[in-house]
Amino acid sequence: MTTETAAAEAGRDFIRDIVQADLDSKKHKGIVTRFPPEPNGYLHIGHAKSIALNFGIAQEFAGRCHLRFDDTNPTKEEQEYIDSIQADVHWLGYDWGTDLYYASDYFEQLYDWAEGLIRDGHAYVDDQSQEEIRFSRGTLTEPGKNSPFRDRPVDESLDLFRRMKAGEFPNGARVLRARIDMAAGNINLRDPVLYRILHAEHPRTGTKWSIYPSYDYAHGQSDAIEGITHSICTLEFEDHRPLYEWLLDKLPVPSKPRQYEFARLNLTYTLLSKRVLTQLVREGHVAGWDDPRMPTIAGLKRRGVPPAAVREFVKRIGVAKANSVVDVGMLEFCIREELNRTSLRRMAVLRPLKVVIENYPEGQVEELEAINHPDDPTAGTRKIAFGRELYIERDDFMENPPKKFFRLSPGTEVRLRYAYFIKCTGVIKDAAGEIVELRCTYDPATKGGNAPDGRKVKATMHWLPAAQSRPAEIRIYNQLFLKPSPDAGNFAADINPQSLEILADARVENAIAETNSSDVMQFERQGYFVRDADSRPDRLVFNRTIGLRDTFAKEVGGKG
Ligand code: ATP
Ligand code: MG
Repeated sequence: MTTETAAAEAGRDFIRDIVQADLDSKKHKGIVTRFPPEPNGYLHIGHAKSIALNFGIAQEFAGRCHLRFDDTNPTKEEQEYIDSIQADVHWLGYDWGTDLYYASDYFEQLYDWAEGLIRDGHAYVDDQSQEEIRFSRGTLTEPGKNSPFRDRPVDESLDLFRRMKAGEFPNGARVLRARIDMAAGNINLRDPVLYRILHAEHPRTGTKWSIYPSYDYAHGQSDAIEGITHSICTLEFEDHRPLYEWLLDKLPVPSKPRQYEFARLNLTYTLLSKRVLTQLVREGHVAGWDDPRMPTIAGLKRRGVPPAAVREFVKRIGVAKANSVVDVGMLEFCIREELNRTSLRRMAVLRPLKVVIENYPEGQVEELEAINHPDDPTAGTRKIAFGRELYIERDDFMENPPKKFFRLSPGTEVRLRYAYFIKCTGVIKDAAGEIVELRCTYDPATKGGNAPDGRKVKATMHWLPAAQSRPAEIRIYNQLFLKPSPDAGNFAADINPQSLEILADARVENAIAETNSSDVMQFERQGYFVRDADSRPDRLVFNRTIGLRDTFAKEVGGKG
């Protein structure tokens, strides 16, 4: 496939158009992008958009995409996050090959360049406190005020900067600032901070450094060192671009990357800020970063979402230059579409109700054939045992049904999938009046699910044999937030108290229990489910990846 057709197939957007034009005009011989996460949390679905964009462009245009950890703030960064980020990028289906980098690899070079800026009069050490600096920065309508240290001699700044590096001063005592313009309309150009003092141990450089570069200073220069051609980031960095370019212009960097901004992903019923996600974990609102209710890649994975569904979702939403909010239903659609195609069908009874088939011989068991995928004959069939004692779904029975209820009730006949027609002849209740068992009869002439006399039933129900099925716990996940736009500032108030429902007494087919698979299965009429890592041999646990879209219509209408 040529680069051209590959790009067209993958869909066009304004960034891909720029890349194509830069190749056509020979501005670049090859394309180099990068995905630059800060290792201060797990990746989420928004990052997936950025990953697919950066790695996707590299693939489509025969370029390279670097994975670079933006590890410039040792107080927030951890090895656990570095490891999880690598695992998650791989899980999504992308690979950086040998191009794994850390901004901390460049600390020495960045420091040398900072000395150069001081020598050239483009930077100075400021002794003001953080508050003083913030206060004198001005506002959108008012210019800032020059620092009293702005014009200190170069040698003095150089000496102080070296002593900052040597660890002579406490945190916050001084900073290195670029000397640009305190009256600039763009606040990012009002003498931004390039280095701050921070006595903290870094996961990679240990205690070697007592000063750390700011994001703005480290980022563009890291791009330049790595020869990044297109530095793609989210819109909130648009106002930082003049600073990005100012620094590249003032420093003897080996290349001049260009920054392009696109709209970040926002999803309804979801918060994608790392600050919020960290709090959800730390405050115990969820079980961890990989809790299936989390919008993290690890959460989606544990929930059973296939990486192909995430890639398809990201492709469908496209890349735009204006912020918007995507309906979470779009993600769910992509998940269902992928799983409907790929997942094998099985039967599970989430809320079991016991059924005794009174005219089925005691002790007899027969094997019935069940198909694994209705649209894919190559997926084959499997055997399900049928006997005198079965389980059906509690919801599939009503003693006094309303008019439109076509499933099992006293006197009505229904089909048990792959098995027989049955009729309910009796209801057994406990002392509290709760139904604990049904008595039914079956018609031996309807084996396989069809009556020789052509009579029809209005519902087909799933079921399981009582003896030849296994107990299981099933976890049903609902939206973590109640509102389409949860309040990031006070998210706890918007948390859905029913986001996790545990069905402790479910039953699953033996064929489910016997495979060790991490593949997602469709439990017929219920949705898509995947085995959870909490499973033990004597107690299987399943996560519901997602329900079937038209559950309601199916349940009410039956299948006849
Ligand atoms: P925070 O959520 O606190 O703003 P962050 O998610 O931006 O932090 P980074 O680790 O810096 O944290 O993100 C790495 C890359 O992913 C950046 O290039 C960033 O622009 C991109 N990114 C982050 N969130 C989204 C999002 N919702 N949609 C698209 N890209 C995103
Ligand atoms: Mg960020």
